[in-house]
Amino acid sequence: MSSSVSSETHMEAGRATESDTVPGPILLLGAPGGGKGTQAKELVKIWHIPQISTGDLLRGNVAQGTNLGKMAKEIMARGELVPDSLVDEMVAARLLEPDTARGYILDGFPRTLGQAHWLDGRLGAQIESLPVVAISIQVNYNQLLRRITGRRNCPVCQTIYNIYMHPSQREGICDVEGAELVQRADDTEEVFKERMRAYEALTAPVVEHYRTQGRFAEVDGDRPIPEIAAGIVAAVERLRKAA
Ligand code: AMP
Repeated sequence: MSSSVSSETHMEAGRATESDTVPGPILLLGAPGGGKGTQAKELVKIWHIPQISTGDLLRGNVAQGTNLGKMAKEIMARGELVPDSLVDEMVAARLLEPDTARGYILDGFPRTLGQAHWLDGRLGAQIESLPVVAISIQVNYNQLLRRITGRRNCPVCQTIYNIYMHPSQREGICDVEGAELVQRADDTEEVFKERMRAYEALTAPVVEHYRTQGRFAEVDGDRPIPEIAAGIVAAVERLRKAA
């Protein structure tokens, strides 16, 4: 067992299994296609806390045709960021739900300094006892591009495939549900480039915000999924001890 990992977390051959530690708020930062969603799902299994993906919440609003969805749809299709006030309000509503009491994984939030400052204020005194920790998953540019342009989702069970790296057995068909796989409207090369521009201009300062507070760690995302998850668990526990 690694010395940087608390006794409640079990590491088996580079793989984290169930943990009873109180994880608190965990922010997953990182470029589009870096595996935030995939890792959030791994962490849900380990810590039994919810994944709160602002991208998923926004896509849900678009699909339901809510006012928020109508405002967000075109912005998302261009690969730009939805205005802070709209996203902050959506996150505020989600954080009121009782399943967030032991912690949660914010997947893709905050993406601007404004959102980070809003979150600091929203957490208020809680920051002292169980501070937010931020993790960035690092993946090189060409790999991000392959992950984004190759990504296909099952609209029924949400399983994610990649036509280059882990395709479904029958092309275009989900192995589990037999449903036709779909590609996200913003998973094209052109929109990816805009999303990367938004990331570098607006989200990179968020990394610095948490780095200067000693609440930030980078994890190598170019490894098998369980190893990345183990790296994130170790980083979170190291940051918690240092806090
Ligand atoms: P994601 O699923 O995280 O890649 O997000 C998809 C898209 O949703 C982004 O390209 C943005 O247009 C929008 N989005 C998601 N999270 C945020 C956020 N925190 N702030 C602003 N826009 C967001």
